Amino acid sequence: MNFLLENATIVSNNPTREIFRGSVRVEKDRITAIGKKLKAKPREKRINLDGQILIPGFVQTHVHLCQTLFRNLADDLQLLDWLKERIWPMEGAHTEKSLYASARLGIAELLSSGTTTILDMGTVRHTDAIFTAADEMGIRAFIGKCLMDRNDCPKELREPTAQALKENLDLISRWHGKANGRLRYANAPRFVISCTEGLLKDLRSLSEEKNLLVHTHASENREEIKIVQSMTGKKNIAYLDHLGLANERLVLAHCVWVDEDEQSLLAKTKTKVSHCPSSNLKLASGIAPVPTFRKAGISVSLGADGAPCNNNLNMFQEMRLASLIQKPVHGPTTMTAQEVFEMATLEGAEALGLAHEIGSIEIGKRADLVAISLDKLHSAGGSDEAKSIYSSIAYACTPSNVTHTWVDGRLVYQAKSGKVGGVSSEQILQDAKRERRKLLQKI
Ligand SMILES: [Zn+2]
Repeated sequence: MNFLLENATIVSNNPTREIFRGSVRVEKDRITAIGKKLKAKPREKRINLDGQILIPGFVQTHVHLCQTLFRNLADDLQLLDWLKERIWPMEGAHTEKSLYASARLGIAELLSSGTTTILDMGTVRHTDAIFTAADEMGIRAFIGKCLMDRNDCPKELREPTAQALKENLDLISRWHGKANGRLRYANAPRFVISCTEGLLKDLRSLSEEKNLLVHTHASENREEIKIVQSMTGKKNIAYLDHLGLANERLVLAHCVWVDEDEQSLLAKTKTKVSHCPSSNLKLASGIAPVPTFRKAGISVSLGADGAPCNNNLNMFQEMRLASLIQKPVHGPTTMTAQEVFEMATLEGAEALGLAHEIGSIEIGKRADLVAISLDKLHSAGGSDEAKSIYSSIAYACTPSNVTHTWVDGRLVYQAKSGKVGGVSSEQILQDAKRERRKLLQKI
């Protein structure tokens, strides 16, 4: 689809971080022109944004679409109890249909709140259902089947190593690079506690050979670290490094409890950290030392994690919290609005190896764009200065400010249409309700 977005306040994220009033031309899946005085071509489709803010779509580097159906069903617990008592039994009960409904509900929430790219960890089975939902609804997604092969994993999820790796390979050949490169595979061992050393070593070779991401949880909770130490004699990051997994293709969710040696490892190996402030607070895991990470040159991007530990999937909330939770300790000038906005866009793109394709509004990049209107009671106010615009986005906006979302030039959300990803919101909600009911009956 070719069109011209006119009269937008463009927050470009380009190398000089320009913000200006102008137009953006999209041809097929790419941005082909940007300018203050771009003229429409004859018969070109024109969309007047009437001064609304146009940003590059948000990139979330840690989510679980498989858990959206469990929202409000696993609250006020700490991580390991939350997993054992609530999440694992529900993941184990998923059918292809319930997983599809869960993924559609999650993607609908993400697209309608301005997230255009995700790094998703699935559950153990039915991963095709998540890929299918992402394929149809148009989100850019790295997805991986969750790998859990140790004997002490819950029986409803544990798989023999060879079987897990075979399905992993099959999924790579079915989905990696599909939909114009919009869908990609990311290996997803759940965490060190659930994986054999053999499996992790195999993933290292696979990631190297096929240039694939490895996406896992690490050092989220102090109890988890004790278990990892008793299993391996090492802390999480030291262990992953020992196996050769710590490198620029590794994305680690959380990293709340990381000692100085492990911080140097993260920096040295260019391992990426995905910070999930809502989840870390709600599961009482702690506060990740993000300002320290960033001073050390460690890449930190943002993610909402799963709906049952958040309980939303919107980036506005994660930006706001990522900033606010550091201020009481590090002072008011730490983690500014602009800084968390860049973590939510450019840093996410960088973490996924896609900084050349997404994360900013620049000619040649993919047309993953979000239009935001500040014209709401909760967000009105401010000026045209950059500082004020970043403040509006990071501190005042909520999903209700998003009016349009495009991915690869496709309009996947328009607030007034009642549809998201080509499906009516009503239908998505009904399907989710039905599948949730069936799932709960099963467990
Ligand atoms: Zn997670």
